[in-house]
Amino acid sequence: MENFSASTLEAVTCPACGLLCDDVRIARDASGNLQVTDKGCAKSMSFFERTSQASSPSIAGKAVSLTDAVKKAAEILRGTNQPLFAGLSTEVQGMRSVLSLADKVGATIDHMNAYSSFRNTLVVQNSGWQVTTLTEVRNRVDLLLVIGTDIVSHNPRFFERNIWNKESMFGQDTSSREVVYLGGQNLDTSAGNSPKGVKPTVLPCDIDRLPEVVATLRGIISGKTLHATEVAGIKIADLLNLSERLKAAKYSVVAWVSSDLNINHAELTIQNITELVIKLNAKTRSSGLPLGGSEGDYSVNQTSTWTSGYPVRSRFARQHPEYDPHHFSAEQLLANDEADALLWVSEFNPDKTPPKANISSIVIGHANMKAPDADVFIPISTAGIDHTGTMFRIDSSVSLPLGKLRESTLPTLAEVMTAIEAAL
Ligand code: SF4
Repeated sequence: MENFSASTLEAVTCPACGLLCDDVRIARDASGNLQVTDKGCAKSMSFFERTSQASSPSIAGKAVSLTDAVKKAAEILRGTNQPLFAGLSTEVQGMRSVLSLADKVGATIDHMNAYSSFRNTLVVQNSGWQVTTLTEVRNRVDLLLVIGTDIVSHNPRFFERNIWNKESMFGQDTSSREVVYLGGQNLDTSAGNSPKGVKPTVLPCDIDRLPEVVATLRGIISGKTLHATEVAGIKIADLLNLSERLKAAKYSVVAWVSSDLNINHAELTIQNITELVIKLNAKTRSSGLPLGGSEGDYSVNQTSTWTSGYPVRSRFARQHPEYDPHHFSAEQLLANDEADALLWVSEFNPDKTPPKANISSIVIGHANMKAPDADVFIPISTAGIDHTGTMFRIDSSVSLPLGKLRESTLPTLAEVMTAIEAAL
């Protein structure tokens, strides 16, 4: 039996963003309150240091036992034809239990971040891509090109851990790495300042002009001749210079965050990024690096894909899974009255509440979540704090265990979903 008295916890894995930093130090007091004391960031502090409020299951706002809440949830699901499981902020074990119940009741599944993660998924499905891992970046990158984002709003410790890391496996002088920001306006690019004080190259443009800029850079790298002298306020000469730097680099990495690319058909711009990486690889080494990740989105898509063959936006209404990234979006289904019950999951974040919908709703969420309109609300414990779990890092090739840092009286998502399935 573990001792959950006051102590210092070393090498804790943080699930608050896709980096899954595994070096966070946390102090725990005798009541189970947590405080990040080293290697954290503002995001990790707000995740670990949130005080859990006392919460109980409820039916139509009235406190009930967990057994009664589970029975009511099963009753709602038994009476539906087109249930929708959405939100789905969880980790691997939680998602396994979601998929099992979805298969039983013929639900459609969608994740709250799918609107942006599909910008990447559509590229993988259409043409494939050459992307790398954080470990490779940490040990090999010599030129980092950042497109349309500051990265650190999403992954606060990216530069600290992967670009300005003091040591690398092959003796590279990491402080000499070059950073270029392309696109976006008024980005805070200070994280790209090298330890030697060298500032990054910054080529700003409005995000909605990024498609032209990236297409132009791809054209230049592919050897096309351009007659224009500028695109979206960026001089062609600067893009020619960037192209030469990319060709001269031994291991360039081109990074983007899909949720920052709020432009029409962002997948086409991402495809231009990944295709220019492929072009560079004809003569030197280059890799793409999709960053971001939150609310377990990568883990949920991985689990769904290896279980059913498809990422989220799949339906289990027939004897086989069906997949449609457009029609099976939760937003679309709710707007078109094509769902008759909503089961919403938000394990990590109490602020990610369900959308308003005039259908029966079951909300399974963080203890601090307020869901006054839910027919059934069941508070659950949080993976990485209250119970163990598994999560995929943003580069999808590495999964990390999440620890149990304190005792909780709340059930896990998997326990709740399994109980609902048993009560059907
Ligand atoms: S960068 Fe991300 S994973 Fe690392 S400590 Fe901050 S929130 Fe957690």
